[in-house]
Amino acid sequence: MKIITVLGARPQFIKASVVSRAFEQLAGIEEIIVHTGQHFDANMSDVFFSELGIRTPRYQLDIHGGGHGEMTGRMLAEVEKVLLSEKPDAVLVYGDTNSTLAGALAAAKLHIPVAHVEAGLRSFNMAMPEEINRILTDRISDWLFTPTRAADDHLKHEGTPSEKILRVGDVMYDVALHFGRMAADENALAAFGLRAGDYVLTTVHRAENTDDPLRLKAIMEAFATVARSRPIIWPMHPRTRAILKKLGLDEASTANLKLVDPVGYLDMVRLEKYAGIIATDSGGVQKEAFFHKVPCVTLRDETEWTELVEAGWNRLVPPTDAAKISTAILEAFGKSGADATPYGSGDAAVRIAERLHRDLSA
Ligand code: UDP
Repeated sequence: MKIITVLGARPQFIKASVVSRAFEQLAGIEEIIVHTGQHFDANMSDVFFSELGIRTPRYQLDIHGGGHGEMTGRMLAEVEKVLLSEKPDAVLVYGDTNSTLAGALAAAKLHIPVAHVEAGLRSFNMAMPEEINRILTDRISDWLFTPTRAADDHLKHEGTPSEKILRVGDVMYDVALHFGRMAADENALAAFGLRAGDYVLTTVHRAENTDDPLRLKAIMEAFATVARSRPIIWPMHPRTRAILKKLGLDEASTANLKLVDPVGYLDMVRLEKYAGIIATDSGGVQKEAFFHKVPCVTLRDETEWTELVEAGWNRLVPPTDAAKISTAILEAFGKSGADATPYGSGDAAVRIAERLHRDLSA
C-alpha cells in the first residue's frame, strides 16, 4: 500500500520523523514524502531531515512566498499532479499550515482518503490562518488522529462522526521522549554562553504577533527588561527576523539578549530542557516546555493546549503590554505545575501507522 505524506513546515518534519519510523516497522507500506517547500532554508528544513533521519522527499515542489492564497493554490495544483501520477491509497498531513490544507484538499477532490495528524485543535480565533487550515482539513479528512480529549470534544461538537475521531495521543510527546534522551547534555549550553537553569528561551513567529508592530514592540521591550536580570536566548524565525529588520529593531542583540538564527532540533531540545522558563507563541514549543518540565509563558490571546494552563505549567499573556509580559516571565521562572499526562503514552506514532496499515489492508 502506498501512502503519500505532504509536508512543508518545520513542525511537520519533526512530527513526521516518528510516524515515518513507525511505517518502516510495518511490512507492505510504502511512504512517499512530498515536500511543498513552504520552509526551505537549511536551518528551517534540511537540518531536520539529517538530524531526525527523515527519508529524503521524492518530490520537492519548491513553493514558498507570496500570499496565503497564491501559496496554497500553487501547492494544490502541484500536489494534485503528484497524486494523479502516484495514485496513493491515502494521503497523510500534519498540523495546520498551508501545506496541510493543500495536501488534504488535493486528495479529497480526487477521492483519495485523507489522514490528519493533530486533528481537532481549535483556538476559536478565525483570524489565525492556522485555525482556517485546521478546520477545513478536519472537515475533509477520513482519519482524524487527535492528541487530546479536548480535541475529541471539539470535533464531536462540530458533528464529526465519532468513528472518524481516533485519539492516539500527541506525536510530539513521542518525539520529546526519543530526542529528549539524546539531548541530555547540559555542557553543550556553553556554546550558547548559557548555564543550566539560569536563562529564558523564547520563540516568536505567529502572524498575530509579528505582523502587529505594537505587539512586536511590546515583546521586544519586555525582553529587554527581562534581560537585565536573566539571559534570554531567541532562535529567530526568518519571518520575524525580516519584520524586525524592516522596523529597525533587529540590532537589539546584546550579551544578555541573544538573537540567534534558528537552531537544529537537538540544540532546541537542549535549550528547552535546561531553560528556567520558556516564553513562546509556538504551539509545539508550549508542549515541549511541559514535556521537559519547564514552565511556559504563552505570548498569545488563546491557546489550543488549554490543559497546560489548567495544570499550571502554562500562563497565557496577551502580548500587548511590555510590563505584564516581563513580570509574568520573571514571576513564573523556575515554577512547576501539577502532574498531568494529557498527551497519551508516547506511542501515538505507532498507533497511527498501525491503524492506517490495518484499514488500508482491509
Ligand atoms: N524548533 C527548532 N528550532 C528552532 C525553533 C523551533 O527545532 O530554532 C522546533 C521546536 O522545538 C518545535 C518546532 O520547531 O518542535 C516548533 O515549530 P514552530 O514553532 O515553527 O511551529 P508551531 O509548533 O507553532 O506550529
